[in-house]
Amino acid sequence: MSSYNVVNNPYFCTYKFDRFSRFTVMKQHNFSAGPAILPASVLKEASRAVANYEGMGLSLLELSHRGPEFMAILEEANALMKEIIGLPEGYHVLWLTGGASTQFYQVPYNLLNEGETAAYTDTGVWANKAIKEAKAFGNIEVVASSKEVNYSQIPKKYKIPKNAKYLHVTSNNTIYGTQLHKFPQSPAPIVCDMSSDFLSRPFDPGPFGLIYAGAQKNLGPAGVTVVIVREDMLGTVQRHLPSMLDYRVSIQEDSMYNTPPVFPIYVSMLTLRWIKKSGGLKAMQRKARSKASLLYDEIDRNPLFRGTVAKEDRSMMNACFVMQEQYAPLEKEFLKLCEGNGLVGLKGHRSVGGFRASLYNAMPKSSVAVLVDLMRDFAASK
Ligand SMILES: *Cc1c(COP(=O)(O)O)cnc(C)c1O
Repeated sequence: MSSYNVVNNPYFCTYKFDRFSRFTVMKQHNFSAGPAILPASVLKEASRAVANYEGMGLSLLELSHRGPEFMAILEEANALMKEIIGLPEGYHVLWLTGGASTQFYQVPYNLLNEGETAAYTDTGVWANKAIKEAKAFGNIEVVASSKEVNYSQIPKKYKIPKNAKYLHVTSNNTIYGTQLHKFPQSPAPIVCDMSSDFLSRPFDPGPFGLIYAGAQKNLGPAGVTVVIVREDMLGTVQRHLPSMLDYRVSIQEDSMYNTPPVFPIYVSMLTLRWIKKSGGLKAMQRKARSKASLLYDEIDRNPLFRGTVAKEDRSMMNACFVMQEQYAPLEKEFLKLCEGNGLVGLKGHRSVGGFRASLYNAMPKSSVAVLVDLMRDFAASK
């Protein structure tokens, strides 16, 4: 697939793009849930940086993480993150490793003493994993669950215990295609797994004590996890925290206690620049809404397909749909048709089946239009 050549010599750096001029014209429409689509301009600049960073005759991958080049990258990434979200004083941006899955235990490890209570909502596979890991560290109360309906909706009415130290929610359930369109009113600070809708819409950071997101859904390559933590959340646990797992050490060392994942951070910084240039989170939300409604309207209109989740909880990032029961045998044929037309990553997660179209920030509306046209043509041909 990646048939473009990057030819590098010590004196010049030349680029040859594939015969489709990939990077300027995207020929594949990437609907993958993650690792996922990134802006073409970001990929182009990142590939240049790998070949020859800013004309230095060195790859970005060869540069010291303590050198001035990477320090500038990290500083810009932090500043852009704060600016784009509008983070007030007291919040720290950290770039960590181990994926969102490491946060499932690093969060309670840092925030919750044995005997203390944290509230969790159970909205799918990822929420479940967070619950499972947290149980090793404190008293975990699952305050709401939509398990009985195969997570096809977001539970809305539930009580958060008064003594809860935090409430953990998953803002977007990547596998099921549900999204929290309104964050709950919570007496306790909210801890949120935002992996799959991070930076797709504006939000008020005030109620959040901690936010985490693996980069590979909406921000950059796999290998870095963003953690945004409010200072007052830290320093209350009694247990000994190894340095690599102690958020306070990461804050103190500005995510550089050890060698950070320099390339994923660099690419994430480029994406942040792209978000800012594209109009920030409001523009991301506008675009997401317009792409999602284009697709959901077709799902609702087309006699072959139906959506799998409650309409009011539909995700703007991951649209899950199946074929109406009587047409179910046609699913494979439709997937094949999609692949033949350069639409990839549309197979639904095995726990839902059918199709999942991930519509992250970098997905152009024109790709969604191609999918919608195929759905129409396919229905017309049956
Ligand atoms: C993908 C995903 C994860 C897991 O992320 P890793 O970086 O692979 O650990 C966790 N939560 C949500 C909501 C996700 O979409």
